[in-house]
Amino acid sequence: MSSLTQLLVFLAGLVIGLALLPALRHALKRARWPQLHEALERLFPVAQLGTVPPFAKKEAVAELLPPPDPASHPVDPREQQINDSAQAVRSILLILTAVIERTEQAASESSLALKKLRESFERAGLPAEVAAATSRLTEQIDRMVSNNASLREKLASSQKILSAQQRQIEMLRTAVLVDGMTRLANRSYFDDKLAEMLRLRQRYDETFFLIILDVDHFKSINDTHGHQAGDLILKGVAQQLRTTLRESDFVARFGGDEFAVILIKSTPQAAEAVARKLCNSVRERRFTFENVGITVTLSVGAAEATEFDTAESLVERADAALYRVKEGGRNGVFFAENPVSGLLS
Ligand code: GH3
Ligand code: MG
Repeated sequence: MSSLTQLLVFLAGLVIGLALLPALRHALKRARWPQLHEALERLFPVAQLGTVPPFAKKEAVAELLPPPDPASHPVDPREQQINDSAQAVRSILLILTAVIERTEQAASESSLALKKLRESFERAGLPAEVAAATSRLTEQIDRMVSNNASLREKLASSQKILSAQQRQIEMLRTAVLVDGMTRLANRSYFDDKLAEMLRLRQRYDETFFLIILDVDHFKSINDTHGHQAGDLILKGVAQQLRTTLRESDFVARFGGDEFAVILIKSTPQAAEAVARKLCNSVRERRFTFENVGITVTLSVGAAEATEFDTAESLVERADAALYRVKEGGRNGVFFAENPVSGLLS
């Protein structure tokens, strides 16, 4: 039986049980057992069983599944979709937890009331008519309590399944956005981010900078030390870029031995300082593969996002700037000129 069916059976049992209460009361009244009638009112208040506490946020579930941090990449549409799915699963988990608690509370209240009621009836020595009504009522409540136990189990296992689902969504989020080797944002994520940054640029007129960095003579590192050494260098460069940049800056693997950085809220002077810092920090790092020390340099091209830019024009200008550095002997930084108008971009 599904959890939903269990829940419906439980609710049906509850309704039938409650429906029998007036009959029992009526029988007690007719049999002139006012004390028992009062005891029934006191011990088995209909309102208590009929009302349930409002859904409360359950800290335990909230801790188990922390909501995604909205501060990190708040505007990426694909991440937004994944976040929405995660949020939906999280909401279902909260509801399930609340339902489990409510059924538990209703069951323990009804069990207690039932026990006390039975004791009262036993002490009173009821006439046959009342005893029959009582027995029908207790039968329903017994059934309700036992249904509730299996319902609780089903709900708990649904909770486990949903938690696993939540973890899978997290893994999906990583797979969609992250480059497997370097653990930086992948190219597809970069493209979305750049498009979004340009939309924000149009709306708020806040400039940003695109920096493209390419490892110099990387092919010869592969050729000399092997592909594995090349991989190690790429991972090391990625790590160096990430640790040198601010948390709020966006860094991605652009492709092959190329990386891209989006510097948010920067000035031309600050952007140039960052570009040089990245260049220097990689140049100064000594990578070791099978006890052989390897050093690399970067060529860096950058461009400021202007009001005339599209993603293509901005990448093209940063790329052209990078090409200038390569032509000039590599291991350096060059910033592209800003276009004067849309016609020149
Ligand atoms: P330049 O200074 O002009 O940039 O020369 P380069 O050798 O770095 O540039 P080129 O584009 O000729 O070579 C890039 C090389 O990067 C070629 C490709 O085999 C290698 N490469 C691309 N992706 C990977 C990777 O994931 N791992 C490794 N080890 N090598 C990669
Ligand atoms: Mg290269």
